[in-house]
Amino acid sequence: MEADFNTPPTTCEMAAKEEIVVKKPEVQLKGIGLGDNEDGDIAAAVCNGTVASYSLESSLGDCKRAASVRRTALELMTGRSLNGLPLEGFNYESILGQCCEMPVGYVQVPVGVAGPLLLNGSEYMVPMATTEGCLVASTNRGCKAILMSGGATSILIREGMTRAPVVRFQSAKRAADLKFYIEDPTNSDSLSDIFNRTSRFARLQDIKCAVAGKNLYMRFSCFTGDAMGMNMVSKGVQNVLDHLQIMFPDMDVISVSGNFCADKKPTAVNWIEGRGKSVVCEAIITEAVVNKVLKTTVPALLELNMLKNLTGSAMAGAMGGFNAHAANIVSAIFIATGQDPAQNVESSHCITMMEGVNGGKDLHISVSMPCIEVGTVGGGTQLASQAACLNMLGVKGANGTSPGSNAQKLATVVAAAVMAGELSLMSALAAGQLVKSHMKYNRSTKDVKAA
Ligand code: NAP
Repeated sequence: MEADFNTPPTTCEMAAKEEIVVKKPEVQLKGIGLGDNEDGDIAAAVCNGTVASYSLESSLGDCKRAASVRRTALELMTGRSLNGLPLEGFNYESILGQCCEMPVGYVQVPVGVAGPLLLNGSEYMVPMATTEGCLVASTNRGCKAILMSGGATSILIREGMTRAPVVRFQSAKRAADLKFYIEDPTNSDSLSDIFNRTSRFARLQDIKCAVAGKNLYMRFSCFTGDAMGMNMVSKGVQNVLDHLQIMFPDMDVISVSGNFCADKKPTAVNWIEGRGKSVVCEAIITEAVVNKVLKTTVPALLELNMLKNLTGSAMAGAMGGFNAHAANIVSAIFIATGQDPAQNVESSHCITMMEGVNGGKDLHISVSMPCIEVGTVGGGTQLASQAACLNMLGVKGANGTSPGSNAQKLATVVAAAVMAGELSLMSALAAGQLVKSHMKYNRSTKDVKAA
């Protein structure tokens, strides 16, 4: 069943769905305004449905107090303690209306640092938020191998955030008419102009059309400066749809997103066309470094890459998954730097290539990643911890002189860090070290009790 986002359920309704036995506390709120009451009474009123949990921030006018009351109501309702989930030490005002609704606390994720990562002549310390033991250590080892071999080169080969609405007509002929209208070069300037009016930074690049019977999917692609761009492109698309509606009054807009975009789903269209930033990154790792730092050999790595990342992934029917663990590094950097973690799906699309060079002695490694979706403004990037991690990389906020260059640099760092992770994990596998190191660093030493 699809969730109804417009009318959030009361806490008691939530509990009813989970079949928890709910005590409905009796309470009389006496204060004139909600905030004039005791917190415990407000929590009881939330629990019995008299006060809507989602309205606490606006009715109390204090985000921290709202989170605290909601948390008490939740504990009352479930009879379960939230001890361990911190409430104190977080700025709840900073997430209001943009990052998270109905907060009851925050989850702590440790941030480790890998580096220095020598990339395009500069050194970066890469923040990684993770609870996976070995991940930061392994990426750090890959960074060391790259540094000792003279560094990596990352190149942004294209960029464009996409959104693809779906519209319906009474006939396939009319759907095709709109496709031809959009593809007619004499209309492109006016469509771009209408799109570009919605932002100082968003710039329409192209619209790729696909017809399915009476339905038309239009994949808008646009430059979004330092923003990841999902909201910006959606706003521009809506403006163009409003304009097209005048030209094609029989057009029925089914949805501003028709999944031909494609956001947060693995798709061939993203893999082939790209989404967000498309980056290729390469390095030559010398034989000595492969032997001493990575503790394996160049021939062993070449064979493993062929059999695992290329053939093995092909055997598995992979799409965009021709790599060892790009998603590990992408997710950790995304969480640390306030990216949308669900976009890890397509942002982790990656093909890792390895070749022998310099007479087969040294290793040429590359990662090609067509859909790195990152921003340095908007979303979670402005929150204090995440902004600090962006600052660590020197890419915090909007780039005042060259809009877009902070986000571009972040994408190149993500690709290079992925390459470091590929180097290290592939070497551990080639040398048969993986299980040993995970048993040492990634295994609970506490007794694990059954729940
Ligand atoms: P946004 O915060 O909605 O838009 C970026 C804002 O920053 C705009 O107001 C823009 O100005 C301004 N800005 C200032 N300097 C800029 C610069 N140098 N480059 C670019 N923009 C600059 O951010 P967004 O990236 O478009 O959207 C991110 C949010 O979308 C995240 O919270 C994410 O979770 C969410 N999201 C939405 C969807 C969706 O379907 N809508 C899907 C996935 C994720 P202008 O006003 O002039 O443009």
